Amino acid sequence: MDLGATVCLARIPRCGSCPLAPACPSRGRRYEPLRKQSRFAGSFRQRRAQTLRLVVTAGRPLADLDPDAVESLARDGLVTVEADVVALPGEATIRA
Ligand code: SF4
Repeated sequence: MDLGATVCLARIPRCGSCPLAPACPSRGRRYEPLRKQSRFAGSFRQRRAQTLRLVVTAGRPLADLDPDAVESLARDGLVTVEADVVALPGEATIRA
């Protein structure tokens, strides 16, 4: 049983069915997220997602993509840039 995924949920812990409840100092407490994530629409995360979606099936010319998003994705190891072609790591075919 994965308690963190099924029982001890941050917003609504199910302490009543938790096997750790007798010894848990947090029993009955609820914790709201410390910060809210900004809106996805119009965000840099959205630009990264759009860029990644474009290269997921085949490599794309760098000139056809958002350069800031490509740089960020490459820094995170999610894409590679070789000879001005952006692709998933291990792939480098340009889409026809
Ligand atoms: S008793 Fe403690 S570990 Fe169990 S669900 Fe509640 S807060 Fe989480």
